[in-house]
Amino acid sequence: MSLLVIGSLALDTVETPFGKASEALGGSAVFISVAASYFVVPVRLVGVVGSDFPKAHIDFLERREIDLEGLQVVPDGRTFRWGGRYHYDLNVRDTTFTELNVFEHFNPVVPVGFKKSTYVCLGNIDPILQQNVLKQLDRPRLVVGDTMNFWIERRTSELKNTLKHIDVLIINDSETRLLSGEPNLIRGARKIMAMGPKAVIIKKGEHGALLVTDRTVFAAPAYPMENINDPTGAGDAFAGGFIGWLAKTDDLSEDNYKRAVIYGSALASFCVEKFSVERLRDLSYLEIRDRVREFRDLSRFDEDVLAGRELR
Ligand code: AMP
Repeated sequence: MSLLVIGSLALDTVETPFGKASEALGGSAVFISVAASYFVVPVRLVGVVGSDFPKAHIDFLERREIDLEGLQVVPDGRTFRWGGRYHYDLNVRDTTFTELNVFEHFNPVVPVGFKKSTYVCLGNIDPILQQNVLKQLDRPRLVVGDTMNFWIERRTSELKNTLKHIDVLIINDSETRLLSGEPNLIRGARKIMAMGPKAVIIKKGEHGALLVTDRTVFAAPAYPMENINDPTGAGDAFAGGFIGWLAKTDDLSEDNYKRAVIYGSALASFCVEKFSVERLRDLSYLEIRDRVREFRDLSRFDEDVLAGRELR
């Protein structure tokens, strides 16, 4: 199966109560492709950077077997930059700046060899660009999309158009409320499903994630992290693990969606342990497998202790 990812490649300046990183490798497409590269190779990336994008970052992406044929490098261009500051409660983040730079005039071109990609992840990026990429593709099997408040507020109608072509939308709790205009998350998810997606995954920061389809609600537990350093990219690492697992197994059953949610949660839990993509540089298969098992054991219990007895 083939997986195509579009999104931002960024230099992030991030401050958390535990430290600071300046101009570190980030961007939605980076976190998604790196996480997905643990399941499928090569991941096909479409994006743009400026000539200031460090060669070491390109080398790293290539080492993870990410195919960069769809990466445009704008001569004399300046790479997208984003700044974020996290509060003591790491679920609260302020964006300190967003510099679109090369994204302002970006016209994504999907290489001919990428057009038949079967799995597609539209990372957080201008919904006009997300649509532009979809139009160049030859009927993918599954389209997973992500977005954020920045675009929900600035490009509402364009985002609603993109949603008609997205099968699974991954979105956080506050963005679910913003996009649906509904305070209750499950009802909000249903309103968003009426806009197009067949499933909505609501990320709730360190409180886990909810998968909502027209038939079920599945809750992935939150991993009890003791050493979170930087939550940046967790949502994208989740998306990468989720779609990576689906592309690897090519099984779109509801049971497999649930497994994919847990693989996504596992990759997100690794991502937040260090700044930027540091913890995602070289995970081992065993580390991922063990964490998935820990997720399973977190909420597994024996309901039968009362075996046949009345509750009172
Ligand atoms: P997350 O923590 O999952 O929301 O993702 C954070 C990443 O998204 C950072 O690495 C940023 O570079 C990137 N990002 C932030 N704002 C935007 C935006 N408006 N468009 C595209 N990417 C963004």
